[in-house]
Amino acid sequence: MNQPIEIITSPTNALIKSLKSLERKKGRSESGLFLAEGARLVEQGLEQGWKAETLVIASTMAERPHLAALARRATAAGARVVQAPERLMSKITHKDNAQSVIASFQQAHRPLTALDAKSDGIWIALYEVRDPGNLGTILRTADCAGAQGVILLETCCDPYSFETVRASMGSIFDMPFANATFEQFNAWRQAGQMSLTAASVNGTVRHDAAPFGQRAVIIMGNEQAGLPDPIEAECDTLALIPMRGGADSLNLAQATAIMTYEAWRQRNFQ
Ligand code: SAM
Repeated sequence: MNQPIEIITSPTNALIKSLKSLERKKGRSESGLFLAEGARLVEQGLEQGWKAETLVIASTMAERPHLAALARRATAAGARVVQAPERLMSKITHKDNAQSVIASFQQAHRPLTALDAKSDGIWIALYEVRDPGNLGTILRTADCAGAQGVILLETCCDPYSFETVRASMGSIFDMPFANATFEQFNAWRQAGQMSLTAASVNGTVRHDAAPFGQRAVIIMGNEQAGLPDPIEAECDTLALIPMRGGADSLNLAQATAIMTYEAWRQRNFQ
């Protein structure tokens, strides 16, 4: 028999307050949790074995078969499942139109050494990416192009921010990523005998002529400052994506997509 679902109606309820706090970095760091919004995204997280702490379902939609099934699944996985009116769900996400489902998941922090440097394929390293939307879009692109993983170098934005999770469209749950200093990363990729190709506006080789090889890292620069000179000096190739017109560079996420798809094309999309 199905258990009746707990119903929350007060904005001062402790659970609502703690979920609201996950919108800020401080709340996420202290709790080790993050928010995912939308039935499909939440389903993806559960499917990939991420641990959901709480699932909140909009009261007016809780009877819908797919949401009832999601609630049962989350309960079986050990999550606390509650119903709340839409106005409370909007308070959690700080948006007017909240989705029908919001869940908090436990963050996972992989060390760089947990990423298998010995496997062939394409890796993406991001130097000090600061825009959460760019990071989410890049995780999604990396996932679509079958990249091995994403390495966040030095001080990057939080991959568990609401904006990054949303922009990743579920790839946050699929795409392995790890934080590292440039030194740690460079030692790791050298041990794995990976080539290092920078996408750079100082590039000397056209991006479609860059020799990525079987094990390749594409390194991308910060949105404002690009890559520091000492890092460019460590790269095997500096690749330039041709541009016309007045803009001095492409958007970081777009440039990452062009580079990644070129590296994948050179592997005949295998
Ligand atoms: N003013 C910055 C600079 O000097 O690099 C522009 C940074 S751009 C917005 C962010 C990153 O996207 C760059 O560091 C580079 O990795 C990549 N990028 C953008 N346009 C590129 C291009 N035409 N060719 C190669 N990489 C590019």
